[in-house]
Amino acid sequence: MSAKLIKGTEIREQILEEITAEVAEIKEKYGKVPGLVTILVGENPASISYVTLKIKTAHRVGFHEIQDTQSVDISEDDLLALIDKYNNDDSINGILVQLPLPKQINEKKILNAIDPDKDVDGFHPINVGRLMIGGDEVKFPPCTPAGIQEMIVRAGVETKGAEVVVVGRSNIVGKPIANMMLQKGVGANSTVTVVHTGTKDLAGHCKRADILIVAAGVPGLVKPEWIKPGACVIDVGVNRVGEKISEKTGKKIAILKGDVDFDAAKEIAGSITPVPGGVGPMTITMLMLNTLRAIKFKLGIN
Ligand code: NAP
Repeated sequence: MSAKLIKGTEIREQILEEITAEVAEIKEKYGKVPGLVTILVGENPASISYVTLKIKTAHRVGFHEIQDTQSVDISEDDLLALIDKYNNDDSINGILVQLPLPKQINEKKILNAIDPDKDVDGFHPINVGRLMIGGDEVKFPPCTPAGIQEMIVRAGVETKGAEVVVVGRSNIVGKPIANMMLQKGVGANSTVTVVHTGTKDLAGHCKRADILIVAAGVPGLVKPEWIKPGACVIDVGVNRVGEKISEKTGKKIAILKGDVDFDAAKEIAGSITPVPGGVGPMTITMLMLNTLRAIKFKLGIN
């Protein structure tokens, strides 16, 4: 039997509608809307397309949005001064710096200069610490892991007591999602194992998973025989494996593959995310949710 598809594209629409409604309520009651600034340095085409999508989505949900584009040769001091300006701007609740940054700039220094209460990406060490503590301490869960958890919850998958296996231990996906799933709370309370290139029996661990979250960046790494029948499989991997001509636009587009052998896995799993159209659309959605959280924290709304 074929697994239930967990579609990020559909969940995104639900969440964006919820955000739009909340933004309208806040506007009516407090006369304010969430403000999001995206700082783009240089003209990297991939960065421009991410930023454009972020701005478009922010606009759609009714945010005040600013795209601040800086020249590729901006100095580190000038970029720090710009961050300071937005840290002190009351109309801005979320600050995003699009990565990668040019070589003359120390990325870590820039990200750490963002006010942790405006760090809607959730990468500042203070927010990483808050996530580790869990519960009420958490302000901005990082967007991709937050999207993964939201998909699991909205798909109705039981997490309490579930064996969760996370493939990958990056700071942006593997470690934070593992940490989130082990917290005592709704959509979590799981028993978590994290596997990586140092793991001895990758297949053996994966086979035990009720919820298998794969973020390795290796196309087709997870074989169908590694999947427990009925498991929930979240494929975070986005791997460019070639190019094709889009039927819609006639332009060249990338052929994307996940880290899981999807066609075979969907015959064994209980539920599974596709690539593309699975976790991908959730990241920007959760960024919007974090920006909404930021203004709510500021206004003291629970
Ligand atoms: P990353 O920083 O490269 O980390 C990959 C992790 O997977 C590492 O911990 C690595 O182990 C582990 N790994 C790699 N090959 C493995 C193997 N053969 N067996 C076991 N473990 C292996 O990657 P990332 O940034 O977390 O991203 C992972 C994937 O998710 C990528 O395809 C990326 O494009 C995608 N992604 C998607 C979204 C989205 O959809 N919104 C967001 C972020 C990332 P070691 O630590 O031992 O090296």
